[in-house]
Amino acid sequence: MKKAGILSAVAIVLAALLVLITNGGRSEPAQMADGLSLEVHFLDVGQADCALVLCEGEALLVDGGNREDSSLLYSYLRDHSVTYLNHIVATHPHEDHIGGLQAAIAAAGVGDVYSPVSESDNGFFVSLKRRLDDGGIPLVVPSVGDSFSVGGAKATFLGPTRVSDEENNNSLVFRLDYGDVSFLFTGDAETAEENDILESGANLKCTVLKVGHHGSAGSSGYAFLRAAAPDYAVISTEDNSRYGHPHEAALSRLGDAGAAIYRTDKCGTIVFRSDGAVLTVETEKGAVEQSEASAENGGETPMYIGNVSSGVYHRPDCRSLPAEHNRINFYSLEEALNAGYRPCGFCKPGG
Ligand SMILES: [Zn+2]
Ligand SMILES: [Zn+2]
Repeated sequence: MKKAGILSAVAIVLAALLVLITNGGRSEPAQMADGLSLEVHFLDVGQADCALVLCEGEALLVDGGNREDSSLLYSYLRDHSVTYLNHIVATHPHEDHIGGLQAAIAAAGVGDVYSPVSESDNGFFVSLKRRLDDGGIPLVVPSVGDSFSVGGAKATFLGPTRVSDEENNNSLVFRLDYGDVSFLFTGDAETAEENDILESGANLKCTVLKVGHHGSAGSSGYAFLRAAAPDYAVISTEDNSRYGHPHEAALSRLGDAGAAIYRTDKCGTIVFRSDGAVLTVETEKGAVEQSEASAENGGETPMYIGNVSSGVYHRPDCRSLPAEHNRINFYSLEEALNAGYRPCGFCKPGG
């Protein structure tokens, strides 16, 4: 009996290995039983950035919020049983991106850390680097075109294409591809870096855009958004941002680009899940929305129309619809609510 037990255990391990080997060269993700094997969590860290990517048992952390977010980040990793971060991308040495990273290193083992620079005067960077040296964790300054994997997802660096004196425009920018679904992470890149990347001819088309520099007016230029054409745009910012983020001009351009805008200040933490074809989004303060990542909403009539500057949504026949350039279309009530929009007082669209 015991021997048979061991043999069947060996058989299971061999079968699992065989699955791994036969799937080794695939470009499409395996369809798992309940599907959604890629998760991208945009943590609500206020006026800062922090995203956790989980894919097929591997993990990537993109920025770590401010130092004051340390305990939140530590608990979040623990709560999601993340004991090893295969990679960390520290987009640039500003506190709101690297201030909390030491908490991640305390919570989990770390494979390597990507940074646009190997030296910086920033105090948070200096202490982070000391911590990496002490732990024998390599700091890697990647070049454009370099890539790494997170499970079956592939990350590729697109920028910076040249060294900028302005640290925001020296942000590591990369895309993450998983089947038909893709995420574009931009750090605090502004139009100068966006335009450099555009000129490089990189593929910017993405399903989800992590909006540059918390939605500042100097980021998310028209040309860049036209190339990215995101279905979803995520803005990481605090409520009543002290910097006025997101800026109305950036919101308006994102609305024009047809992106459904999700803001951490309104939605709380935002979680995308995908099997490489279907994408779902769930927010801390709202329900789940599901859509075909590749489906176009082109010919469909919107159920509601939002005003990107006021954050109010209307029935399509409302008398106080926003100007064309301020509109965002919603195809379900959930979509409007998940995006943090409030119902119009005149047309009373429900919700
Ligand atoms: Zn910055
Ligand atoms: Zn920032």
